[in-house]
Amino acid sequence: MPNSEKILVVEDETTILRVLGTILTANGYQVITAETGQQAVTMASSHCPDLILLDLGLPGMDGLEVIKKLRQWSGTPILVVSARDEEDEKVRAFDLGADDYITKPFGTSELLARIRAARRHANQLAAERAMVSSSYEYKDFKIDFERRTVTIAGKEIHLTQNEYKIVERLARQPGRVLTYTTLLHDIWGPYKGDDNQILRVNMANIRRKLEKNPAEPRYILTENGVGYRMADGE
Ligand code: CA
Repeated sequence: MPNSEKILVVEDETTILRVLGTILTANGYQVITAETGQQAVTMASSHCPDLILLDLGLPGMDGLEVIKKLRQWSGTPILVVSARDEEDEKVRAFDLGADDYITKPFGTSELLARIRAARRHANQLAAERAMVSSSYEYKDFKIDFERRTVTIAGKEIHLTQNEYKIVERLARQPGRVLTYTTLLHDIWGPYKGDDNQILRVNMANIRRKLEKNPAEPRYILTENGVGYRMADGE
């Protein structure tokens, strides 16, 4: 299915850049490219891409710096590509405002699925800004933000205040990874520090109440060493 969405691919290795360009063009995307961080920032402001595919290891201004710069003025979805599967780096990328993260090597179908998901989240967010949504639904799981109720298959689940806040915070941005730091800060306030033990305890309780099998959660997913994300429907 042809579409005219424009993707800015930022990558300093010419071979990878060419491969990515070929894949994306073959799948109907318009592709523009940048090989340095500085060039990426310039291209993003002059071409207004629909999504940015960003390699973190760049000469000069690195990918994290690029995210920081872009997020000062742009909400364009950023899908980070990195050769290293480093938790610290992921956390920093998410905290700076990256939308998702994909580790090399990856397959074409995974890349395309991540791009579609990031675009979908951006559209949802835009729709939410236009009209703040009053509920979240995924399969038989429902949250009513106005009444502050959580139900599974119509049966109300009783959560403590903090448990509800965590669930609501995640459900306001389904599919987005929220880091431990972001959640701690938003639920317990800016002085809570970085000890995520309290968050893990709350999450264990939430899962015991929500999930059939807390060890294999279906609603709130764990992003190991990074944070949590609420499931979102296709
Ligand atoms: Ca690189």
